[in-house]
Amino acid sequence: MTTVIELTIASNYVKDYKAGYPLIKKDFIKNTNVLKNEGSIVHLVDQNRNFIAKGYYGNQNKGLGWVLTKNKAEAIDYSFFKSRIKEAMDSRIALYQSADTTGFRVFNGEGDGIGGLTIDYFAGYYLINWYSEGIYTFKDSVIRVLDELCEYRAIYEKKRFDTKGQYIDDDDFVKGTRGEFPIIIKENGMNYAVYLNDGAMVGVFLDQRQVRKAIRDKYSEGKNVLNTFSYTGAFSVAAALGGAAKTTNVDLAKRSQSKTIEQFSVNGIDYEQQDIKVMDVFEYFKYAKRKELKFDLVILDPPSFARSKKHTFSTAKDYSGLIKDTIAITEKNGVIVASTNNASFGMKKFKGFIEKAFKETQTNYRVLEEFNLPSDFKTHAHFPQSNYLKVVIVEKK
Ligand code: SAH
Repeated sequence: MTTVIELTIASNYVKDYKAGYPLIKKDFIKNTNVLKNEGSIVHLVDQNRNFIAKGYYGNQNKGLGWVLTKNKAEAIDYSFFKSRIKEAMDSRIALYQSADTTGFRVFNGEGDGIGGLTIDYFAGYYLINWYSEGIYTFKDSVIRVLDELCEYRAIYEKKRFDTKGQYIDDDDFVKGTRGEFPIIIKENGMNYAVYLNDGAMVGVFLDQRQVRKAIRDKYSEGKNVLNTFSYTGAFSVAAALGGAAKTTNVDLAKRSQSKTIEQFSVNGIDYEQQDIKVMDVFEYFKYAKRKELKFDLVILDPPSFARSKKHTFSTAKDYSGLIKDTIAITEKNGVIVASTNNASFGMKKFKGFIEKAFKETQTNYRVLEEFNLPSDFKTHAHFPQSNYLKVVIVEKK
């Protein structure tokens, strides 16, 4: 029998782990020096070596691993993975049965009971994201579960655990019949082109599903739309299908141009009627001001942190400034969709950034709607950071 590795919880945090806190955090553990091999099973214990919880060692920038069970008798084996993944799949049954939506999250890390692991479904294909070498040691069990529980064309994976916690660019194919990419998924009837074997990002962020639907159904008809940090233009597809007069897409990455053309094309939208600019958003704001351009709907969905040649942007520090720039080019009664995926602050603070920007520009506004993650991105009740997405839709008065 292998000896169990015991991690002693610092006394202040015992109550948190007892309550269900899932992350094995360096600062909360007294003897991290006993950790050797990623994937090892660890027991979290108090000062008196009383068992509190069981988890695995897997290094991520967030922490050293995740709690998996509070039941000492439960083994972390094939049956464990099967029970958690089956439960997650059962709770997504409505999405599996939907003909309108064929891309969604099947398993969402700690929210579904196993931190460091996510599984997405894309029209017959599964994509597994491994966030540490530790969780990757359980690969055989996870694949066996998928083999047993589902039918699929192929399984792909992203290993997101190089030294900086970044994606390792590999052949991402695991098994099945290789896909011919792009594959086309549906989301509330809209089409999105998806690539599972071409870098860390696949072409569409599934967590924004509700926001894309709202943009299409409520905010786009006849509107002149600006989509900043537009990536493949997923929000603009929704806007165009919702009857937007025109969309302008701005992203720094050269590839965004062909990718955006492709997303429009797979939806039968004439991309030549749209504007697709490869450009720094902050330069675009200056250009738009100079040209006195104004928009009815502006979408802001920046990365948490971005550095371009001229500009460093951090959502935690600079979001108010971004909203101020936006207010200047938004029509009266125009709408701003402000989004962030920065887990380091919550909704209240985010709305504070918006409030500050309107106050400092002496502009009135009204909050129309707020969004968090959709239910397939299941969050963890004792881990607020898992509820990372915040979207606020406001009207400029
Ligand atoms: N809103 C997109 C996702 C954005 S991902 C969607 O819904 O699909 C972040 C994007 O911001 C990336 O495509 C990146 O190229 C772009 N980006 C980062 N910094 C930028 C900058 N300063 N100006 C323009 N685009 C930028």
